Amino acid sequence: MPTSVSFVSNEHQPNGSAHVGVVGAGQLARMMGEAAHDAGVRVTVLATTNEDSAVTTTDAVVLGEATDPVALRALADLVDVITFDHELVDLGVLEQLEAEGVVLRPSSAALRFAVDKAYQRRTFFDAGVPVPRFLVVSASTDERLSPFLDELGAAPVVKASRGGYDGRGVAFPATRDEALADIALMTASAPVVVEERLELVGEVAQLVVRAVDGTLAFYPVVTSVQRAGMCAEVRFPSDLDEATLGEAHRLSERVAELVAGVGVLAIEYFVTDRGLLVNEVALRPHNTGHWTIEGVSTSQFVQHLRAVSGQPLGEVAPLSPYAVMVNVVGADEPGSLAAATLIDGTFVHDYGKSWRPGRKLGHVTALGEEPAGPHVRAWEGARAYGTVTREA
Ligand code: ADP
Repeated sequence: MPTSVSFVSNEHQPNGSAHVGVVGAGQLARMMGEAAHDAGVRVTVLATTNEDSAVTTTDAVVLGEATDPVALRALADLVDVITFDHELVDLGVLEQLEAEGVVLRPSSAALRFAVDKAYQRRTFFDAGVPVPRFLVVSASTDERLSPFLDELGAAPVVKASRGGYDGRGVAFPATRDEALADIALMTASAPVVVEERLELVGEVAQLVVRAVDGTLAFYPVVTSVQRAGMCAEVRFPSDLDEATLGEAHRLSERVAELVAGVGVLAIEYFVTDRGLLVNEVALRPHNTGHWTIEGVSTSQFVQHLRAVSGQPLGEVAPLSPYAVMVNVVGADEPGSLAAATLIDGTFVHDYGKSWRPGRKLGHVTALGEEPAGPHVRAWEGARAYGTVTREA
């Protein structure tokens, strides 16, 4: 696709404020666009089409692919710093841009943690960070596989090391033979991580934001409820006890120091009967942080833009004792945004995407003085809007 630059009419920041380029124009870039004014920056996105979610909320659009060096250079020519809406990038191309002097935040070295699950698992394991038992293989004939599967005793989880998201690229085979078939299929494109299938007590996540000078800001730990490999609901506060919360903070700090990326780092944890295990990290604003738009004094989007543009971080103070965020996922029939906004006490976020069953279309947040009310209202809003996920 030829690269072209088009400007839209959202010039809401004076010239002279930092100009942030975002690779990708999905809902995260859209919400960065909405946060740009509060962060005191301008935002230009690299979008694949003019229909992408972020095109209507950002100052300018470069059309092109996230892996295309020509498109990335066109973006780099316009902005002071480049950040990311997703991790489907080509690290070789990004390293080349850095060598040419383009400022990437997070850097390509930090992004490797999110791009390559095998690298992430190995690096965390080597550093003593607790992770599920795992083995990285490039073929189903790898001779280490059979003893590893014997040791696990049950069918494993098989994960593509690259290119997966929202449960895509994760297989839950029922038997050893199915596991071997999945591994054979998935290793055709990249190595896979084979790991133990855990009995999960729950899943929690924490966002840590790192400024250019290395200062860290910690968001509260939240509980995330997954359905069909996709986040369905996020609850603040988490349901962890004090000791486990302390453990989460210690691990999050350690992981943030290992990854050393500028901007938001989202750390997803498995809660198991042997403690917390790191599932994965993302180096961008994250679904488990959408509640911070209304629920925290500085949202994850404002904070990310402040961090990558070299500003000091904002304060992280919860604005309400309880918050619930529910994702709106396209149901079999399109829903009604108007119906969702009629429910009192909800904040409805529409990503401006066309409806498709299974597609993330928006989210609904509700705050409250007690946990039950926000839970009921957020789900009511999401159901009215159209969501396939069962109530958690
Ligand atoms: P993605 O990168 O697509 O989000 P994840 O690795 O986070 O994929 O897996 C998606 C979901 O699948 C997790 O949130 C969890 O619910 C489940 N899952 C992943 N790995 C395991 C595992 N080893 N044991 C049990 N459940 C798992």
